[in-house]
Amino acid sequence: MTDLLLSPTVSAQDTFLSRRRRDRAASRIRATSASPSPARRAFSMSPASHRRRRSSILAEPGSEMNETLSQYLPRPTPKQAAEPIVGSYALAFDIDGVLMRSGDPIPVAPEALRMLNGDNEYNVRVPYIFVTNGGGKTEEQRCKEFSEKMETPVSPNQFIQGHTPMRELRKKYGTVLVVGGIGEACRQVAEQYGFADVVTPGDILKWNPNVCPFRTLTDEEHKNSRYRDFSQVKIEAILVFADSRDWAADQQIILDLLLSKDGVMGTVSETYEEGPPLYFAHNDFVWATNYDQSRYGMGALQVSISALYKAHTNKELFVTKYGKPNYETFKYANNLLAEWREKIFGHKSDPTTVYFVGDTPESDIQFANKFDDSWHSILVKTGVYQEGTVPKHKPKVIVDNVLEAVKYVLEREHGVHEEEYILEEDEEELD
Ligand SMILES: [Mg+2]
Repeated sequence: MTDLLLSPTVSAQDTFLSRRRRDRAASRIRATSASPSPARRAFSMSPASHRRRRSSILAEPGSEMNETLSQYLPRPTPKQAAEPIVGSYALAFDIDGVLMRSGDPIPVAPEALRMLNGDNEYNVRVPYIFVTNGGGKTEEQRCKEFSEKMETPVSPNQFIQGHTPMRELRKKYGTVLVVGGIGEACRQVAEQYGFADVVTPGDILKWNPNVCPFRTLTDEEHKNSRYRDFSQVKIEAILVFADSRDWAADQQIILDLLLSKDGVMGTVSETYEEGPPLYFAHNDFVWATNYDQSRYGMGALQVSISALYKAHTNKELFVTKYGKPNYETFKYANNLLAEWREKIFGHKSDPTTVYFVGDTPESDIQFANKFDDSWHSILVKTGVYQEGTVPKHKPKVIVDNVLEAVKYVLEREHGVHEEEYILEEDEEELD
C-alpha cells in the first residue's frame, strides 16, 4: 500500500486532488485493504474520471533532451519544481484570428500560452504546436517575430506554415515558379527548403515586360529579379506559396504556363494538358483582418484561376492544395507534434487528445473534425467566425477567445469535482 501511494503515477494524480480528498482516499484504501486490492481501487473509477486522472503523467527525466531545445521547456516556478507534470494531451493552434490579428497579438494570447507553460492551478505543462495557413517567410523568421509577440519562445520545430509541407516537392521538380509574398521572400523560402532552381513572376517580367503590359516592375523589383531567356526554360511546377500581391499579373503568368507546352513561356499546348502542375499552400477563401469584413484569400485566387482556365479550355483545372483542412498538412502536423513531444517532454506515446483551436469553420474546424476522432475542435470568436451565425463545420465547443479555450481544455482534463469523486467512490463500495 505504501508503494502504491508513493508510486510516481499515483503521486501525479494526487496533485489534482485536494489534500482533504487525498486523505480521504488513502484512509478508504487503508480501511478496505483486504478486498478489493489497493491497485484495483485506485483505477476502478468511472471511464470519465479514469480518463481525467490518467490525463497527466510525471515528466520523464530530460537526460536525452537536446540542449538547444531546452530553452523551449517552460521553467517551473519554485512551487511547481518539486513535482513537474506534463499533460499527456496536447494543443494545436491556428494563428491568424486566434493568437494574432492583422499582425498584432490578440491581447489574451500571451496569457493563454503562459498557462500552458505551467502557470495554472493544476501544476501542469502542456505540449503545443502551431498550424497556420499563413506563410511568405521562413519558419525561423516567423518564429522569431512570433516569439516576441507571444512573449514566449516558439521553435520552428513546433510551427507549420501553409507551405511547410511543400518542401517535399523539392525532390520531385527541378525548375519551379514560386508565386506570392513580399519581394523576394518566397524565393528565399523555397531556396532554403532546397529547391534547385526557383523563378518568380518578376523574373519573367524582367525577361519580357509585354507578358503583362499593365505591370511595371519597381526599380527594386527590377534589381532583384533574375534575367534569363524563358523561351528556353521548362518550368516543371507552379507553387503558390503565399498571397499574391498582384492578382492580375500573377494570374496571367500562371495561366500562360498552365496552357503552355511543357511549361515554356510563349508556347501553347493543343490539348491544354501539357502544362506544369499547380500547387497552392492553402485554399482559405477568406481571412480575418482589422477591416470589419473578411478579405479574399489565396483560395479565392485559386477559384478565379480555375474559372479562367475553364472559360479558356472548357476543362476542369486540377489543383493540389496544402494547408488546413487538407490531409497532407494533417499528417505533417501529427508528425511534428510527435517529434516535439518526444524531444522536449520525452513522450513517445500518442497524445490522448489533440485540442485544435481555430477561428475558421471551413478551414480549422473541418481540419480538426475530419481525420481522427482524438482531435477535439474549439472555435473562437476573435476571427472569421461571427457570433450568431451557424458554422458550416460544427466545433465541439465555441468560446470567446484563446484564453477561454485553454481554460476549457485544462478544466476538461483536470477539473475533477469533489462531488463527482465522492459519488464514484461510494458507487465503488457498493460493487
Ligand atoms: Mg485563422
